[in-house]
Amino acid sequence: MRSSPVFDTASGPLTADSIAGAAYIVAGLLFILSLAGLSQHERARGGVIYGISGMIVALAATIWLTLQKTWGGDQMLTGLIFLLVAVLIGGAIGLWRARVVEMTGMPELIALLHSFVGLAAVLVGWNGHLEEPHLHEDLLAIHHAEVFIGVFIGAVTFTGSIVAFLKLSARMKSAPLTLPGKNAINLGALVGFVVLTVWYVNDTQLWLLIVVTLLALGLGWHLVASIGGGDMPVVVSMLNSYSGWAAAAAGFLLNNDLLIITGALVGSSGAYLSYIMCKAMNRSFISVIAGGFGITASAKKDADYGEHREITAQETAELLVSASTVVITPGYGMAVAQAQYPVAELAHKLRERGVNVRFGIHPVAGRLPGHMNVLLAEAKVPYDIVLEMDEINDDLGDTSVVLVIGANDTVNPAAAEDPGSPIAGMPVLKVWEAENVVVFKRSMASGYAGVQNPLFYRENSQMLFGDAKQRVEDILRAF
Ligand code: NDP
Repeated sequence: MRSSPVFDTASGPLTADSIAGAAYIVAGLLFILSLAGLSQHERARGGVIYGISGMIVALAATIWLTLQKTWGGDQMLTGLIFLLVAVLIGGAIGLWRARVVEMTGMPELIALLHSFVGLAAVLVGWNGHLEEPHLHEDLLAIHHAEVFIGVFIGAVTFTGSIVAFLKLSARMKSAPLTLPGKNAINLGALVGFVVLTVWYVNDTQLWLLIVVTLLALGLGWHLVASIGGGDMPVVVSMLNSYSGWAAAAAGFLLNNDLLIITGALVGSSGAYLSYIMCKAMNRSFISVIAGGFGITASAKKDADYGEHREITAQETAELLVSASTVVITPGYGMAVAQAQYPVAELAHKLRERGVNVRFGIHPVAGRLPGHMNVLLAEAKVPYDIVLEMDEINDDLGDTSVVLVIGANDTVNPAAAEDPGSPIAGMPVLKVWEAENVVVFKRSMASGYAGVQNPLFYRENSQMLFGDAKQRVEDILRAF
């Protein structure tokens, strides 16, 4: 093989590896700046730009390194073709999905992308077994442990993310799977993994790798299938964390610093986000990451809460014009109906008439954190009237009318009042304390967590059935 015209790849102070290594550190720093930017709305756009720049540096360095290492050799063309084909196909699919995906489809897309990271880690691990490097015996033992751990984390992430994708896209029921002895199954799989790892490190047999791959695929599936709909937001961020650790494991195997840094950043930030979300939703972090550990299935059948009352758009308009304070609590249904524009106009019209209008946003309203805030910002609702759940909850008792627009689980009194409910303990917007509540939805169906909502049957609640956008437009016309 001829040496590259630019640098000697094997020796000298500036090798291709050291230059690519430096570029990877720059990319890693850009990713850290990106995460820092993304943690605040005002700097989020800058954060995205840092992230894109980091990815460009990383890709350019990888392509350049491949060229340098294979310069003039037979592998150069094949390597380049493989790389370009992969980048073109991946880039085209990524661009297409990013352009067509609806905001409501983001979590399921993210879950699917996590599954690719998991699959990649499994393939890298398998490659590490089949193409064993020439290493000293002690280092070889570390390599074997890396192969095994990488395959395990990758396979758990792969099937776990697929189940999350199926649940989020409603292709699979969101209710938790409760196999008898589910905690023992999870614990047994973990113990099995430890035993198999020790075995594999001492005796590198292919069948052990096959067994651990199957075990991890089953565990990933079971872990996420066992988690109920109400806890899905935490599952998404938890899988984000797993995908980071899977990428870091692949980085160790490929001896790639950038993958290690990026994987560790994604892994730790995802774990921290899961922890914060669990705290905000009053869930046990350990219970969620251990596939609903300690949660027993509720044996309750649907309760009979009596009759619900209905209201028309005309009557709602009359109720609103005579109100002094109105709080609007949007949820997933507002996103589905794309009702944010007429809702913003309704808020504007009421404010013109001197009504005090505010929005109350639950931390997991919709299908991704911040979903409602983005929709309302899109419709130009002023930031200062959009309040977080904790900021508005104490004022709901003094509110004349609450409009629940396409929200369900996030306003369910069972979370606060029924210790046997699957969402018991999850903080909710206490809309039922208001003088009047109008619930906009199309039917009496339950929300994402699949739990009945007694709010609909309260004396101060009335249902305004139909598509949220059409009903809000009807109210605007009735003005
Ligand atoms: P929910 O899913 O509880 O309820 C949404 C309601 O909107 C449904 O009851 C539905 O009733 C109604 N709806 C749907 N389409 C329309 C429409 N076109 N017009 C009017 N109403 C409509 O939503 P919430 O926002 O209250 O709660 C979010 C749920 O999603 C929680 O369980 C949360 O844990 C989960 N989740 C949240 C994530 C996050 O990060 N935020 C991620 C994943 C899950 P009907 O069919 O009768 O119209």
